[in-house]
Amino acid sequence: MSRVYNFSAGPAVLPESVLREAAEEMLDYRGTGMSVMEMSHRSKAYQTIIDQAEADLRQLMGIPEQYKVLFLQGGASQQFAMIPMNLMKNRVADYIITGQWAKKAWQEAQLYGKANVVASSADRTFSYIPDCSDLPISEDADYVYICQNNTIYGTAFHQLPNTKGKDLVADVSSCFLSEPMDVTKYALLYGGVQKNIGPAGVVIAVIREDLVREEVLPGTPTMLRYKTHADHGSMYNTPPAYGIYICGKVFKWLLELGGLEEIQKRNVKKAALLYDFLDQSHLFRGTVEKKDRSLMNVPFVTGDETMDTWFIEAAAKAGFVNLKGHRSVGGMRASIYNAMPYEGVEALVAFMDRFERENR
Ligand SMILES: *Cc1c(COP(=O)(O)O)cnc(C)c1O
Repeated sequence: MSRVYNFSAGPAVLPESVLREAAEEMLDYRGTGMSVMEMSHRSKAYQTIIDQAEADLRQLMGIPEQYKVLFLQGGASQQFAMIPMNLMKNRVADYIITGQWAKKAWQEAQLYGKANVVASSADRTFSYIPDCSDLPISEDADYVYICQNNTIYGTAFHQLPNTKGKDLVADVSSCFLSEPMDVTKYALLYGGVQKNIGPAGVVIAVIREDLVREEVLPGTPTMLRYKTHADHGSMYNTPPAYGIYICGKVFKWLLELGGLEEIQKRNVKKAALLYDFLDQSHLFRGTVEKKDRSLMNVPFVTGDETMDTWFIEAAAKAGFVNLKGHRSVGGMRASIYNAMPYEGVEALVAFMDRFERENR
């Protein structure tokens, strides 16, 4: 068996110890004589798994009592509709467009009400985060929406926008659990777990209790109401049971290594190694404004498409896979999520350095 260094943007690398543990428990989960995959979600064993996962996530993020934790399905993209359906009381919301995911969310919201663009970085291919200190927030906005870490472009909000008292809703798919967050600054934060937490098929939403309400837009399906899931402990119907079980293992892994402050330290160190290399390189360069760089997704180019392709192929041969940039931007992108070890980035940088010396 040999594992590669997987720089995929998602589904992405998971901690090896988690995968090993899951493998050990595959045929007989702790004396139940069955896999978690084969288990009734109404069983005592499964209830313990989901309860423990929620408790561990609450501990990790310091989630206050008055927030609900929901394990949902449908991918992060399902939330693009679920958010307006549940939160657009006045049918007005303000969106900050910092990339394709924010744009898709904004487009979807237009199906339900007036979705305004209050800031955008489309003018320079989303290579920066606009100044959000004094935006023209709508008087009657139900919420202000951001995508906190832009997976495709490699930018991140290092400071939250001034929403002028309006509720903040954030897609944190690609920065979930990468650093501590003050949950109380958000009305709702959510993410697909396949970037930094677990297998695709699970979405986690952390939502302030008062937003879990009966009054939703007319026609909102039962399955798309936060209240349905909150009232049933995320088990109104069969949840993505195995996926939640793996998420739970990743929460434990994070707690054991010292929580979000520790993982942040490691992520900062890892990202600095790669960014510092890019900043001194004569072949490669980063594509986003320095102050807005993501800790998780690092896009870079050589400036020559043929050279980019050549690099991606050579890297794959050397065991550094999925370095191709998103089809909409080209070049390269190294996603260095929580589970990417420091040694992986170190080895990548050494490889890039060698490639540069051989190809200048
Ligand atoms: C990947 C991603 C999505 C889409 O996730 P799906 O689960 O495929 O719907 C949305 N937002 C961000 C920030 C992402 O990185």
